[in-house]
Amino acid sequence: MWTCMKKTVTFSTSKGNVYLYSPFRNQILLCHPVIPILYNEDSEGTNLEEFLKSHTTTGKSVTIINSVRYPSNEARAQLARYRFLKKHNYFRNADSLNLEGKLTALKINENLSKIKQVIFETTEDCNLDCVYCTFSKFYINKERGKREFNFDHARRMLALILSKRTTATELIISFYGGEPLKNFKFIRQIVEFCNSSAYQHLRFKYTMSSNGLLLAKHAGFLAEHKMEVSISLDGDSQGNSFRVLKNNSSSYDLVVKNIDTVKAKYPDYFDKNISFLTVLHNQNSLGSVYSYFKERYNKVPLISSISTLNINEEFKDEFHSTFLEKRRTDSSDSVVMQAMSLNHPGVKEIADVVEKYSGFVFKNYYHVISSKSNGKANKQFVPTATCMPFSMRVFLTADGSILPCEHISRVFEIGKFDDNNIIITPEEIADMYNGFFDKIKTLCRNCLIADHCKECVFNTRVDTDYPECEFFTDEKKFSRELSRTFGLIEQDYPFFQRIVKEAFHEK
Ligand code: SF4
Ligand code: SF4
Repeated sequence: MWTCMKKTVTFSTSKGNVYLYSPFRNQILLCHPVIPILYNEDSEGTNLEEFLKSHTTTGKSVTIINSVRYPSNEARAQLARYRFLKKHNYFRNADSLNLEGKLTALKINENLSKIKQVIFETTEDCNLDCVYCTFSKFYINKERGKREFNFDHARRMLALILSKRTTATELIISFYGGEPLKNFKFIRQIVEFCNSSAYQHLRFKYTMSSNGLLLAKHAGFLAEHKMEVSISLDGDSQGNSFRVLKNNSSSYDLVVKNIDTVKAKYPDYFDKNISFLTVLHNQNSLGSVYSYFKERYNKVPLISSISTLNINEEFKDEFHSTFLEKRRTDSSDSVVMQAMSLNHPGVKEIADVVEKYSGFVFKNYYHVISSKSNGKANKQFVPTATCMPFSMRVFLTADGSILPCEHISRVFEIGKFDDNNIIITPEEIADMYNGFFDKIKTLCRNCLIADHCKECVFNTRVDTDYPECEFFTDEKKFSRELSRTFGLIEQDYPFFQRIVKEAFHEK
């Protein structure tokens, strides 16, 4: 059986405070520096009474451990505390995580009836030539042409999904590219199809990722249908310098002119439905990006980073020097963190660690009661954090592939369109996923964050003989990460309280 065993981890921060993380209790405690020493000695079978005695001076008032002097009564009090914590399972190994969970064809069929989002690669064509595009020379990816999504395929896929729907829950229809507005006719056809009388009883939400170049031209339609548009813009002219036109000139002025037009003509729509997506690299920084969007549009952008997956070996060094070397740092990162709050990746990470490991965040009342006993022993988990096919979304490409989502390599097809049919074979999909899970669990069973994993199996080179995961976490890395996060918390405790309030308080 493939299982994952978690032991108690101790760590200290740059201020010298010492903590222990108990996986069995799923809690982090501030503790005296002697506690980890006693824990290590105890794990090696040392008699702790004898251990303290042997480190105590002949006058019996001072105990010296690892060259640090403690009053002997303080050291003895810590031994009593250590025993108390041990009695209450703070040093007990967590139940092994059983990673034998499997995906079934039945589950895939069930997912199809509840899918939340359908994403169309509206067209492969784009009016920009971004230097970091995943279809540029820097990435190993299938050639991309100018194919457009076939409306008949789209209509049949939507009809299939909608025929399986048993509730009137909202379906999100998303337009992706290339630049989706280059195939505006398709967008209009899909919106009209969904709004037709046959589907009056259902609810749809429309979203789009756009580079903004054709935004003003179609703004009337977008505003009428409350299309949520996420505009890719990396900040000011310098920050945006990798996003160039086909003739290699800057796209910044044109894009901003479009955005400003929409803002002036449809202010309400702009406020409610337009957002920004920014890629971070060495021409911008969190601080510069934050100030730019705040001042110009009174918005906080979503932040993403340049994909480092599937890099073409031949251009690896150039990739690094072009986008990652000499990154700009902000003069006051903590000011940016405060201003962006949960939109700041570092702040999100703090909230994430607190949610998963502090032991003080509960999803519901049942979780409050059950959390102590850990309760994972009898459950089978599927390794990784991969979303199950069709459970959340599906990405349909212009060349007829059906993929789990828009972020992963095109080799992981889970279906396709042929001339007259949609080919989805749940048994084959389940076999493919289970095969990948079988491969990756050899890594995951030794990973300390397996029960809170955030990685997708498709990002782990699982199609090769030797899957790799950049987030694999051993004991050293785990304590390093906790130490860094708690160091940040200690630097600004009032801000930490604000994070907790914003991230976890019931609305
Ligand atoms: S990257 Fe993986 S987990 Fe994320 S949406 Fe895509 S398939 Fe799901
Ligand atoms: S972080 Fe990587 S190695 Fe760890 S459990 Fe997740 S997928 Fe497996």
